[in-house]
Amino acid sequence: MAVMIQAYRFALDPTRRQQRALASHCGAARSAYNWGLELVKTRLDERQADPTVIVPWSLPELRREWNHAKQQIAPWWPENSKETYASGLDGLARALKNWSDSKSGRRKGRPINFPRFKKKGRARDACRFTTGAIKVLGDRKHIQLPRIGVVKTHESTRKLARRLEHGTARILAATISRTADRWFVSFTVEAERHVPASNGKRTVVGVDAGIRHLAVLSNGVVIANPRSLEHQLRTLRRLNRKLARCQPGSKRRNQTRRKLARIHARAANIRNDVLHKLTAALVTEHGTVVVEHLNLAWLVRNRHVARALTDVGLAELRRQLTYKTTWYGSRLVVADRFYPSSKMCSACGWVKAKLTLAERTFACEGCGHRSDRDLNAARNLARLAQHVAQSGWETRNARGADRKTQPAGQVAMKREAGTERRSGRTGTAASQDVAAWTVEPPLGRSPLR
Ligand SMILES: [Zn+2]
Repeated sequence: MAVMIQAYRFALDPTRRQQRALASHCGAARSAYNWGLELVKTRLDERQADPTVIVPWSLPELRREWNHAKQQIAPWWPENSKETYASGLDGLARALKNWSDSKSGRRKGRPINFPRFKKKGRARDACRFTTGAIKVLGDRKHIQLPRIGVVKTHESTRKLARRLEHGTARILAATISRTADRWFVSFTVEAERHVPASNGKRTVVGVDAGIRHLAVLSNGVVIANPRSLEHQLRTLRRLNRKLARCQPGSKRRNQTRRKLARIHARAANIRNDVLHKLTAALVTEHGTVVVEHLNLAWLVRNRHVARALTDVGLAELRRQLTYKTTWYGSRLVVADRFYPSSKMCSACGWVKAKLTLAERTFACEGCGHRSDRDLNAARNLARLAQHVAQSGWETRNARGADRKTQPAGQVAMKREAGTERRSGRTGTAASQDVAAWTVEPPLGRSPLR
């Protein structure tokens, strides 16, 4: 048994009154964030003249300032749960820390800008609760949140409710958020899971995830991009043109904007569904899954492939493979970024000096072998696992995203901002490598408790 942090997300079916309450809580979180940022900026300016001025930087400092000022600046504060203000200030404290860490070189990756104000309608509506009445009700159709009360869910909460009833899970936090016009709740849960040592399969599969297809496997199976997604993308393009022709600030424009948001959400749902099915099949049907290391932050800068790449959700594919290999007892091998999976001949090992993105067929000048570019890459990835198996898992070519290293404390969720429980670590950006997604700091006390 291993203790893991997991997320359970449910679509909510709130009443009108509850919708207003949910929006009010998210707005309150945003306003606390903006208020705190304003304060920090003012204090920073004041410090220019007087070095003894104290600038609140951490969550406890910001909360103290907020509690002093709230009666004055937000006399309506008792309308919302106090958690919501803490949630907004927590977001700010993290943003400030990210900025100072990035500036001092403690944080890797691209430079982080100084936090900016969150604008209504543009910023993501979200708010997190860590204490109070957070419950999943026994009828499996309702959840309870502080202040907001009992809210109906669209789907059954069975999977989480069962765990809670058996005592194999504990709710740490609940985050409410809005995507398009729909409200969601995401429970951050500490769950005990049985972690199998192996799934009994000995096969190795190389996965070349790409743009043209969702993925090409080393055994020749091609997983196409879902048609429905293509269809959604066409609709998106049409609506975007329509939006551009709308009068700014008009009612029609607002309608189109909301419609666009819904289509975006639907496209994301379709993509996620296909990815979940693919990764589940990969980790249950094979003993070892090999994927390539992609520096996504760099690739997405190339605008020709950017949309397509982010669409296919390569980072998401890898994130899912990372936790699912742990759950099902298979092994994930991530090829080093210098492993020439595309440029190498999968038959004889000859390496081509240059391979352009336009070349769809790999033609070997060493042995004359010809194969589809993606299939060739997938085969090379599968071959890597065999090499690695012979020379031990910790070699230069394979960063073992290996469950054996640390089953306790792996993250099997897309982290909601601020659900991480050690304040000392920042959230991980998609640009960082897979190791950053898998290792969770040891379980500690929440900074808010
Ligand atoms: Zn060859």
